[in-house]
Amino acid sequence: MLIIAITLIVGVSGAFFVIYQRESLEQSVFEKNSSDLKQVMNSITQELDQFGSQLSLLSKTTSVQQMDSIVSASFLKSFDVSTLFKIGEYVTLYDRHHQFICDNSMIGTSSPHQPFTAFNSVTPHRPYTSAWYSEEDFIPNKFFAIAVGDRAHASGSLVANFSFKRIWQKYASHKIGEDGFLIAFDDKNRVLLYPELSKILEQELYASDLGLKDFSAKTFSITKPTFITLNNKQYLAAYSYNPRYQIGILSLQSRDEVQSLIAAVAYTMVFLLALTIVATILIILWLFKNFAFPLRNIIEHINYIASGNFDSEPLPEINKENELGILTESFNQMQSIIQKQIQDLNLHKEHLELEVLERTRELEEAKNQLDLISRTDELTKLPNRRDIREKIQQEANRAERTHRDFCFIFIDIDKFKDINDTYGHYCGDLVLKGVADIIRKNLRKYDYVARWGGEEFLTVLPETDLDGAKIVAERFRRKVAQMKIEFSDTIIGVTITLGVALYDQKLGVDRSIQLSDHALYKGKMNGRNQVVIWDPKDTSEDEYKMALLDQKAFLYASCPIDNEEKNDPSDFEMDQQNEDDDEIEEIDDKGTSSKE
Ligand code: GH3
Ligand code: MG
Ligand code: MG
Repeated sequence: MLIIAITLIVGVSGAFFVIYQRESLEQSVFEKNSSDLKQVMNSITQELDQFGSQLSLLSKTTSVQQMDSIVSASFLKSFDVSTLFKIGEYVTLYDRHHQFICDNSMIGTSSPHQPFTAFNSVTPHRPYTSAWYSEEDFIPNKFFAIAVGDRAHASGSLVANFSFKRIWQKYASHKIGEDGFLIAFDDKNRVLLYPELSKILEQELYASDLGLKDFSAKTFSITKPTFITLNNKQYLAAYSYNPRYQIGILSLQSRDEVQSLIAAVAYTMVFLLALTIVATILIILWLFKNFAFPLRNIIEHINYIASGNFDSEPLPEINKENELGILTESFNQMQSIIQKQIQDLNLHKEHLELEVLERTRELEEAKNQLDLISRTDELTKLPNRRDIREKIQQEANRAERTHRDFCFIFIDIDKFKDINDTYGHYCGDLVLKGVADIIRKNLRKYDYVARWGGEEFLTVLPETDLDGAKIVAERFRRKVAQMKIEFSDTIIGVTITLGVALYDQKLGVDRSIQLSDHALYKGKMNGRNQVVIWDPKDTSEDEYKMALLDQKAFLYASCPIDNEEKNDPSDFEMDQQNEDDDEIEEIDDKGTSSKE
């Protein structure tokens, strides 16, 4: 588009310029011809002026002023004077009565036939000039006459004729352009100068004879070109007239030549214009190829990178010597540095991620380890009370959903204090570990055990009723009773007492465990080394009330704000609560406080 626009602008403005220039070219050719003509006219005028000056100088010489037919004649015929005049030019001395004294004509040459008569117009200061005249040979002449001596004492007149042959010699073959020429006229339109001199020499030739009808200086403008037709040919004409010497000169140049000159200039200009357009297009194409396209490429790359993509290919290399080449190279360097740094960063990131994964894994391991440690009894390596409490709670939740029984076995080593006291604490620890191992080994797949504290253990038997639990408990008891521990050459044996209780949903976890503890206690009371089953029927109403109070206390503790609102549905089901409250009242009546 830019190329088309520039071509159109240059082309249209060029066409206008050529059309305008056509006129101005004609004008300038005309002006040049006018200026040349002025020079010609000046040169001719100078020639005439010089002729007059020479005559004036001669009139002031003593030889002339003597007015002597011999002295003056010999002076005028002398070499110095005769060289001032051309053939056909005569200088003649007349006395104050206009009588011929002498002239410069040699023997055998004749004086001019035309007699000089205008003596009254002759002055001593400035040469008088006559109109142009011609003799039989048709050569145009002009008299120059000057008074000899001053006006008061004028002793005579010196007269000379200026022959136009002098001008012919210089300007008859003067060319205006290739085939243009000069024509000179006197004030009566008689032709004084024409390239074909023979025509002048044949007869008195006038402008009209040349086909110039109504020829007048007024027809010519001195500022604008004028065209005239001569011999069926058109000429560009310039005219100059000198009134002192009555000479008008016409400078003619063939119109065809002028037009071919203009055409040549126009062709040159059109050629230059075409050249300019082609050069402009080539420059624009070059600029596009070398600057616009690479620049656009760079911009696209920069935008690509600016949008966060650093993986683009490097820019194609261009001439490194120009600024764009340097820019491209720098850009590629920058891009490769960025790519390298991103690569390094990614590697570093990958490394860091691996490091983080490793650390996380180690932390996880440490956490698991810590967790295990926090849930494991150090001595027996059995889970501790904290661990089993969580599992029991999960089991309780499951039982609530599935309505399936599960049991607790509370185990206590009999007379353990005695072992400590007898064999030392270390031995006690060995016994503890031994009992723990026996229990661990005899557990079923889904059962679990924990060291509850001291020499007490608690096992949980999921999905097991009291009968099943009893069997397991009996096995524990039997296996422990069979266990022998060697210590300082002594074989030590221990027994355990076990209390078995069914998980009672109404009582909750802690009070259900307490039931197994109650059973254990019964076992201790009955002589130890036995399994005691807690019959659910033996659970007193008090136990249930206590459990209810436990639950309420728990709820109060966890929802202190709701405590104020007795009717809050989140507390309990209303009926249940009222019923419970009545029961608490009953307990109170029996003298048992809720704190108990
Ligand atoms: P009972 O048959 O009534 O249970 O009598 P007991 O001696 O086993 O009961 P008691 O509760 O009086 O004694 C328990 C002892 O267990 C007291 C305590 O020093 C000991 N004991 C508790 N923990 C450890 C332990 O980790 N290692 C050792 N060696 N002894 C412990
Ligand atoms: Mg105990
Ligand atoms: Mg004990």
